[in-house]
Amino acid sequence: CGVVGAWGPATPAVRTMLIALQHRGQQSAGIAICRNSGIDCRTGSGRVTDVFPNPEARALQGGAGAIGHVRYATSGGEGPDDELAQPIVMQAGTNSTLALAHNGTLVNTDEARAGLGISTDATDTAVLGRLLTAVMENAGMTLSQALHEVLPQVTGAYSLVLTDGRRMYGVRDPQAFRPLCLGQLEDTWLLASESAAIAAVGATFVRELEPGEVLEADADGIHSSRLDVPGARRASCLFEHVYFARADSRIGGRSVYEARYAAGRELAAYAPPPPSSDVVVAVPDTARVAADGYAWHAGLPAVQGLLRHEGVGRSFITGDPAGREAAVRQKLSAVPAAVAGREVVLVDDSLVRGTTMTAVVAMLRTAGARGVHLRIASPPHRWPCFYGIDTGRGDALLGAQVPLDRLAGHLGCDSAEFLPLESLLNAVGGDPDTYCTACLDGRFPTAVDLRDGAFLQQ
Ligand code: SF4
Repeated sequence: CGVVGAWGPATPAVRTMLIALQHRGQQSAGIAICRNSGIDCRTGSGRVTDVFPNPEARALQGGAGAIGHVRYATSGGEGPDDELAQPIVMQAGTNSTLALAHNGTLVNTDEARAGLGISTDATDTAVLGRLLTAVMENAGMTLSQALHEVLPQVTGAYSLVLTDGRRMYGVRDPQAFRPLCLGQLEDTWLLASESAAIAAVGATFVRELEPGEVLEADADGIHSSRLDVPGARRASCLFEHVYFARADSRIGGRSVYEARYAAGRELAAYAPPPPSSDVVVAVPDTARVAADGYAWHAGLPAVQGLLRHEGVGRSFITGDPAGREAAVRQKLSAVPAAVAGREVVLVDDSLVRGTTMTAVVAMLRTAGARGVHLRIASPPHRWPCFYGIDTGRGDALLGAQVPLDRLAGHLGCDSAEFLPLESLLNAVGGDPDTYCTACLDGRFPTAVDLRDGAFLQQ
């Protein structure tokens, strides 16, 4: 998911920022805007421009501030998108209203659901909203006090943007799983999952929020405090750099583009192309940068052997396996003139379920490729993600089900090699101990319940 907020005269910027974060989720979009009369929230299924077609719409104008969200499913099942859309708006007693947008997934919400007496179908975001409004109502706390009271008791990933109509809040969990950054557009303070969204409205990037930071913005400026969670280890999601974030964003002080290019370069050193190879082809679009790095360092031309067709969402984000495979064929096509009669080195950024890859290898062969050598710029996913990226359970993950030496045959390619974790961490840069790598090596930074997944311990 992606979250945004704006506090000040440039409130309508939230729509543009959400469009810039559309790659983070296309199932629903929503904006909650703060007016004198209260918080107006509009949500709907589909893309931002489906729900908010008109940038000049009165619904977006005239507020003191606004928060917004784009969603893909991580928690709360496969219910109708418009019912699961965010922001959510909740009453805290008779005097306070709260609007909340969440990127991430909480880990330990079953107990809280039982304690609050709410349905097991409720999303973790709804549980969080109920926990906050309960203490605001019962203990008479402000939203700021409620955040400091409730969040230290919650485990998991949360980058939050909230408002009580008087202020905007941005919160990053103590492990900083998901990104969240601060920007400024004249007198308006901005929050967004990625720096690219801040650039998209011509604003100045100020900084990323720190792990466990609670940032408040109102007419007087900004103010920061910290959640009281001693000893939390920073565990920022490595896959933001590999796959999820935009290449023009900076995360953890590092350019996502540079990290991907360096991963391609490391991959070329670790798994060079066979001497008979002719060209490098990227799986568009997120693997393009890694493929450029690979091609340059392997001394091969990079060609557009695959085209991505606009208007079709990421297959990663779309429902069931059959739907996903059909989506791949609509979304990608091979270019015979670029690959026919050639031996292709196919570069992708990650291998999750393998559905996309099997279809892509078959497409390249149908288009006349003489051979297909797969090179992946990260290790295979072998454990599920509990922190906000919907990679599926262990039994859906190809790398957890098929041993590495049989993957090439399974995918229909001539060879398959993966960038080792150590090389990937080297490419991303920074202290390797500050990243979450759980889906790759099973080192979960929080307690998790692995019982209902199927795992292959290699
Ligand atoms: Fe990211 Fe993987 Fe950790 Fe999930 S488990 S937060 S995808 S590194």
